[in-house]
Amino acid sequence: TMTNTTVDTAAHDATGARDMTKPVLRLDDIRKSFGSTQVLRGISFEIRPHEVVALLGPSGSGKSTLMKCVNLLEQVDDGQIWLGDTDITDPRANQDQIRSRIGVVFQQFNLFPHMSVMKNVTLAAIKVHHWDRDRAEARALELLDRIGMRDKAGAYPDQLSGGQQQRVAIARALMTDPELLLLDEITSALDPMLVGEVLNMVAELKSQGTTILMATHEMSFAHDAADRIVLLRHGVIAENGTPREVMDESQNPETQEFFAHFR
Ligand code: ADP
Ligand code: MG
Repeated sequence: TMTNTTVDTAAHDATGARDMTKPVLRLDDIRKSFGSTQVLRGISFEIRPHEVVALLGPSGSGKSTLMKCVNLLEQVDDGQIWLGDTDITDPRANQDQIRSRIGVVFQQFNLFPHMSVMKNVTLAAIKVHHWDRDRAEARALELLDRIGMRDKAGAYPDQLSGGQQQRVAIARALMTDPELLLLDEITSALDPMLVGEVLNMVAELKSQGTTILMATHEMSFAHDAADRIVLLRHGVIAENGTPREVMDESQNPETQEFFAHFR
Protein backbone atom coordinates (compact mmCIF):
# COMPACT_ATOMS: atom_id res chain seq x y z
CA THR A 1 0.00 0.00 0.00
CA MET A 2 0.98 3.65 -0.26
CA THR A 3 1.68 3.92 3.46
CA ASN A 4 3.81 0.79 3.65
CA THR A 5 7.42 1.75 3.07
CA THR A 6 8.90 -1.75 3.18
CA VAL A 7 9.66 -3.52 -0.07
CA ASP A 8 8.04 -6.90 -0.44
CA THR A 9 10.51 -9.28 -2.04
CA ALA A 10 8.49 -12.46 -1.60
CA ALA A 11 7.43 -14.30 -4.75
CA HIS A 12 3.78 -13.59 -4.04
CA ASP A 13 2.07 -11.06 -1.83
CA ALA A 14 -0.63 -11.99 0.65
CA THR A 15 -3.30 -11.93 -2.05
CA GLY A 16 -1.30 -14.26 -4.31
CA ALA A 17 -0.72 -11.58 -6.94
CA ARG A 18 2.29 -12.06 -9.17
CA ASP A 19 5.48 -10.42 -7.99
CA MET A 20 6.23 -7.28 -9.98
CA THR A 21 9.89 -7.15 -8.97
CA LYS A 22 11.13 -10.48 -10.30
CA PRO A 23 11.66 -11.25 -13.98
CA VAL A 24 9.00 -13.37 -15.65
CA LEU A 25 11.70 -14.95 -17.78
CA ARG A 26 15.46 -15.07 -17.38
CA LEU A 27 17.87 -16.59 -19.86
CA ASP A 28 21.32 -17.22 -18.50
CA ASP A 29 24.08 -17.96 -21.04
CA ILE A 30 21.97 -20.14 -23.35
CA ARG A 31 23.84 -22.19 -25.92
CA LYS A 32 22.36 -24.29 -28.69
CA SER A 33 23.92 -25.96 -31.74
CA PHE A 34 22.56 -28.08 -34.53
CA GLY A 35 25.43 -30.35 -35.54
CA SER A 36 28.36 -28.04 -36.09
CA THR A 37 26.15 -24.93 -36.45
CA GLN A 38 26.27 -22.86 -33.28
CA VAL A 39 22.93 -21.04 -33.39
CA LEU A 40 22.84 -19.55 -29.88
CA ARG A 41 26.28 -18.76 -28.45
CA GLY A 42 25.61 -17.43 -24.97
CA ILE A 43 22.30 -15.59 -24.76
CA SER A 44 21.37 -13.81 -21.54
CA PHE A 45 18.48 -11.44 -20.98
CA GLU A 46 15.44 -10.92 -18.80
CA ILE A 47 11.82 -10.02 -19.32
CA ARG A 48 10.12 -8.10 -16.54
CA PRO A 49 6.40 -8.30 -15.71
CA HIS A 50 4.22 -6.51 -18.31
CA GLU A 51 7.13 -5.99 -20.68
CA VAL A 52 6.74 -6.46 -24.41
CA VAL A 53 10.11 -7.49 -25.83
CA ALA A 54 10.60 -7.64 -29.59
CA LEU A 55 13.14 -10.27 -30.64
CA LEU A 56 14.69 -9.11 -33.90
CA GLY A 57 17.38 -10.41 -36.20
CA PRO A 58 17.93 -11.61 -39.74
CA SER A 59 16.38 -14.86 -40.95
CA GLY A 60 18.38 -17.73 -39.52
CA SER A 61 19.67 -15.70 -36.57
CA GLY A 62 18.07 -18.07 -34.07
CA LYS A 63 14.86 -16.30 -33.01
CA SER A 64 12.68 -19.40 -33.40
CA THR A 65 15.30 -21.64 -31.83
CA LEU A 66 15.44 -19.35 -28.81
CA MET A 67 11.66 -19.40 -28.47
CA LYS A 68 11.55 -23.17 -28.87
CA CYS A 69 14.06 -23.52 -26.06
CA VAL A 70 11.80 -21.38 -23.85
CA ASN A 71 8.80 -23.51 -24.80
CA LEU A 72 10.75 -26.76 -24.30
CA LEU A 73 10.35 -27.77 -27.94
CA GLU A 74 14.16 -27.74 -28.13
CA GLN A 75 16.62 -28.60 -25.40
CA VAL A 76 19.41 -26.16 -24.65
CA ASP A 77 22.97 -27.51 -24.76
CA ASP A 78 24.06 -25.27 -21.94
CA GLY A 79 22.78 -22.45 -19.75
CA GLN A 80 19.60 -22.03 -17.76
CA ILE A 81 16.14 -20.65 -18.43
CA TRP A 82 14.07 -19.48 -15.49
CA LEU A 83 10.32 -18.98 -15.68
CA GLY A 84 9.66 -17.14 -12.45
CA ASP A 85 11.29 -19.33 -9.81
CA THR A 86 11.28 -22.47 -11.98
CA ASP A 87 14.43 -23.61 -13.74
CA ILE A 88 12.72 -25.01 -16.84
CA THR A 89 16.00 -26.41 -18.18
CA ASP A 90 16.14 -28.78 -15.22
CA PRO A 91 15.36 -32.21 -16.71
CA ARG A 92 13.21 -33.01 -13.66
CA ALA A 93 10.92 -30.03 -14.32
CA ASN A 94 7.26 -30.80 -15.06
CA GLN A 95 7.01 -30.02 -18.77
CA ASP A 96 3.20 -29.94 -19.08
CA GLN A 97 2.95 -27.62 -16.11
CA ILE A 98 5.60 -25.31 -17.56
CA ARG A 99 3.83 -25.26 -20.93
CA SER A 100 0.57 -24.25 -19.23
CA ARG A 101 2.45 -21.19 -17.93
CA ILE A 102 3.59 -20.13 -21.41
CA GLY A 103 1.29 -19.29 -24.33
CA VAL A 104 2.68 -19.85 -27.82
CA VAL A 105 1.62 -18.78 -31.31
CA PHE A 106 3.61 -19.60 -34.44
CA GLN A 107 3.74 -18.16 -37.92
CA GLN A 108 1.25 -20.61 -39.38
CA PHE A 109 -0.58 -23.93 -39.08
CA ASN A 110 -1.75 -23.01 -35.62
CA LEU A 111 -5.29 -24.35 -35.88
CA PHE A 112 -6.41 -27.90 -36.62
CA PRO A 113 -8.42 -27.61 -39.87
CA HIS A 114 -10.86 -30.41 -39.01
CA MET A 115 -11.89 -28.90 -35.69
CA SER A 116 -14.22 -26.01 -34.88
CA VAL A 117 -12.86 -22.84 -33.30
CA MET A 118 -14.27 -23.99 -29.95
CA LYS A 119 -12.58 -27.40 -30.24
CA ASN A 120 -9.31 -25.79 -31.25
CA VAL A 121 -9.36 -23.35 -28.35
CA THR A 122 -10.34 -25.89 -25.69
CA LEU A 123 -8.38 -28.96 -26.85
CA ALA A 124 -5.11 -28.48 -24.95
CA ALA A 125 -6.86 -27.22 -21.82
CA ILE A 126 -8.95 -30.41 -21.74
CA LYS A 127 -6.47 -33.01 -23.01
CA VAL A 128 -3.19 -31.70 -21.62
CA HIS A 129 -4.20 -29.66 -18.61
CA HIS A 130 -7.19 -31.83 -17.64
CA TRP A 131 -9.75 -29.06 -17.35
CA ASP A 132 -13.36 -30.21 -17.46
CA ARG A 133 -15.21 -29.30 -20.63
CA ASP A 134 -17.59 -26.78 -19.03
CA ARG A 135 -14.74 -24.80 -17.53
CA ALA A 136 -12.77 -24.87 -20.80
CA GLU A 137 -15.75 -23.81 -22.92
CA ALA A 138 -16.68 -21.01 -20.54
CA ARG A 139 -13.12 -19.68 -20.62
CA ALA A 140 -13.00 -20.04 -24.43
CA LEU A 141 -16.23 -18.08 -24.85
CA GLU A 142 -14.93 -15.35 -22.57
CA LEU A 143 -11.74 -15.05 -24.66
CA LEU A 144 -13.59 -15.21 -28.00
CA ASP A 145 -15.96 -12.56 -26.71
CA ARG A 146 -13.03 -10.29 -25.87
CA ILE A 147 -11.81 -10.46 -29.48
CA GLY A 148 -15.30 -10.11 -30.95
CA MET A 149 -15.37 -13.68 -32.27
CA ARG A 150 -17.84 -15.39 -29.98
CA ASP A 151 -20.15 -15.91 -32.95
CA LYS A 152 -17.37 -17.90 -34.68
CA ALA A 153 -17.13 -20.59 -31.99
CA GLY A 154 -18.76 -23.14 -34.29
CA ALA A 155 -16.88 -22.12 -37.43
CA TYR A 156 -14.04 -24.09 -38.98
CA PRO A 157 -10.64 -22.49 -39.70
CA ASP A 158 -11.18 -22.40 -43.47
CA GLN A 159 -14.26 -20.24 -42.88
CA LEU A 160 -12.07 -17.60 -41.20
CA SER A 161 -9.59 -15.12 -42.63
CA GLY A 162 -5.90 -15.67 -41.82
CA GLY A 163 -6.09 -12.75 -39.42
CA GLN A 164 -9.09 -14.23 -37.62
CA GLN A 165 -7.29 -17.59 -37.42
CA GLN A 166 -4.25 -15.99 -35.79
CA ARG A 167 -6.48 -14.12 -33.33
CA VAL A 168 -8.14 -17.42 -32.41
CA ALA A 169 -4.65 -18.94 -31.99
CA ILE A 170 -3.75 -16.09 -29.63
CA ALA A 171 -7.00 -16.62 -27.70
CA ARG A 172 -6.13 -20.31 -27.38
CA ALA A 173 -2.66 -19.41 -26.11
CA LEU A 174 -4.30 -17.33 -23.37
CA MET A 175 -6.59 -20.12 -22.13
CA THR A 176 -4.48 -21.01 -19.09
CA ASP A 177 -3.75 -17.36 -18.26
CA PRO A 178 -0.03 -17.80 -18.98
CA GLU A 179 2.68 -15.71 -17.36
CA LEU A 180 4.38 -15.24 -20.73
CA LEU A 181 3.17 -15.12 -24.32
CA LEU A 182 5.58 -16.18 -27.09
CA LEU A 183 4.66 -14.89 -30.54
CA ASP A 184 6.91 -16.18 -33.34
CA GLU A 185 6.40 -14.12 -36.51
CA ILE A 186 2.64 -14.45 -36.19
CA THR A 187 1.94 -12.01 -39.02
CA SER A 188 4.60 -13.18 -41.49
CA ALA A 189 2.34 -15.55 -43.41
CA LEU A 190 -0.59 -13.13 -43.56
CA ASP A 191 -1.95 -11.12 -46.44
CA PRO A 192 -0.67 -7.57 -45.71
CA MET A 193 -4.26 -6.36 -45.36
CA LEU A 194 -4.76 -8.71 -42.39
CA VAL A 195 -1.61 -7.87 -40.46
CA GLY A 196 -3.12 -4.84 -38.74
CA GLU A 197 -5.94 -6.63 -36.95
CA VAL A 198 -3.50 -9.12 -35.44
CA LEU A 199 -1.02 -6.44 -34.36
CA ASN A 200 -3.93 -4.48 -32.86
CA MET A 201 -4.75 -7.51 -30.75
CA VAL A 202 -1.13 -7.67 -29.55
CA ALA A 203 -1.27 -3.96 -28.66
CA GLU A 204 -4.52 -4.61 -26.79
CA LEU A 205 -2.89 -7.43 -24.81
CA LYS A 206 0.02 -5.16 -23.97
CA SER A 207 -2.37 -2.53 -22.64
CA GLN A 208 -3.92 -5.22 -20.44
CA GLY A 209 -0.48 -6.02 -19.00
CA THR A 210 0.35 -9.25 -20.80
CA THR A 211 4.07 -10.09 -20.77
CA ILE A 212 5.15 -10.83 -24.34
CA LEU A 213 8.24 -12.00 -26.23
CA MET A 214 7.64 -11.58 -29.95
CA ALA A 215 9.85 -12.35 -32.91
CA THR A 216 8.81 -10.07 -35.74
CA HIS A 217 9.86 -8.27 -38.88
CA GLU A 218 7.19 -5.60 -38.36
CA MET A 219 9.69 -2.89 -37.51
CA SER A 220 7.33 0.02 -37.08
CA PHE A 221 5.17 -2.04 -34.72
CA ALA A 222 8.27 -3.10 -32.76
CA HIS A 223 9.37 0.52 -32.60
CA ASP A 224 6.02 1.78 -31.35
CA ALA A 225 4.73 -1.10 -29.23
CA ALA A 226 7.76 -2.84 -27.73
CA ASP A 227 9.24 -1.74 -24.44
CA ARG A 228 12.55 -3.30 -25.39
CA ILE A 229 14.33 -4.62 -28.45
CA VAL A 230 16.65 -7.62 -28.30
CA LEU A 231 18.60 -7.93 -31.55
CA LEU A 232 20.29 -11.24 -32.36
CA ARG A 233 23.31 -11.40 -34.62
CA HIS A 234 25.79 -14.26 -35.18
CA GLY A 235 24.34 -16.18 -32.22
CA VAL A 236 24.77 -13.45 -29.64
CA ILE A 237 22.78 -10.42 -28.48
CA ALA A 238 24.00 -7.49 -30.55
CA GLU A 239 21.65 -4.97 -28.95
CA ASN A 240 19.34 -4.89 -25.93
CA GLY A 241 17.65 -1.59 -25.23
CA THR A 242 14.66 0.62 -25.83
CA PRO A 243 13.41 0.90 -29.42
CA ARG A 244 14.87 4.37 -29.54
CA GLU A 245 18.29 3.28 -28.30
CA VAL A 246 18.49 0.28 -30.61
CA MET A 247 16.60 1.37 -33.73
CA ASP A 248 17.26 5.11 -33.83
CA GLU A 249 20.44 5.78 -31.91
CA SER A 250 22.73 2.73 -32.17
CA GLN A 251 26.16 3.67 -33.46
CA ASN A 252 26.93 0.09 -34.45
CA PRO A 253 27.27 -0.06 -38.27
CA GLU A 254 25.88 -3.61 -38.53
CA THR A 255 22.85 -2.59 -36.47
CA GLN A 256 22.29 0.47 -38.65
CA GLU A 257 22.65 -1.69 -41.75
CA PHE A 258 20.07 -4.18 -40.43
CA PHE A 259 17.42 -1.53 -39.80
CA ALA A 260 18.20 0.29 -43.06
CA HIS A 261 16.72 -2.71 -44.91
CA PHE A 262 13.32 -1.98 -43.41
CA ARG A 263 13.15 1.72 -44.20
P1 ADP B 1 15.14 -17.50 -37.24
O1 ADP B 1 13.88 -17.90 -36.53
O2 ADP B 1 15.81 -16.32 -36.64
O3 ADP B 1 14.93 -17.34 -38.72
P2 ADP B 1 15.97 -20.22 -36.66
O4 ADP B 1 16.03 -20.33 -35.18
O5 ADP B 1 14.79 -20.80 -37.34
O6 ADP B 1 16.19 -18.70 -37.07
O7 ADP B 1 17.25 -20.90 -37.27
C1 ADP B 1 18.55 -20.60 -36.84
C2 ADP B 1 19.55 -21.54 -37.49
O8 ADP B 1 19.37 -22.84 -36.96
C3 ADP B 1 19.39 -21.67 -38.99
O9 ADP B 1 20.67 -21.79 -39.55
C4 ADP B 1 18.60 -22.94 -39.15
O10 ADP B 1 18.88 -23.54 -40.38
C5 ADP B 1 19.12 -23.77 -38.00
N1 ADP B 1 18.14 -24.74 -37.49
C6 ADP B 1 16.97 -24.43 -36.90
N2 ADP B 1 16.31 -25.54 -36.52
C7 ADP B 1 17.09 -26.58 -36.89
C8 ADP B 1 16.98 -28.01 -36.78
N3 ADP B 1 15.91 -28.57 -36.17
N4 ADP B 1 17.96 -28.76 -37.27
C9 ADP B 1 19.04 -28.19 -37.85
N5 ADP B 1 19.22 -26.87 -37.99
C10 ADP B 1 18.26 -26.07 -37.53
MG1 MG C 1 11.92 -18.03 -37.14
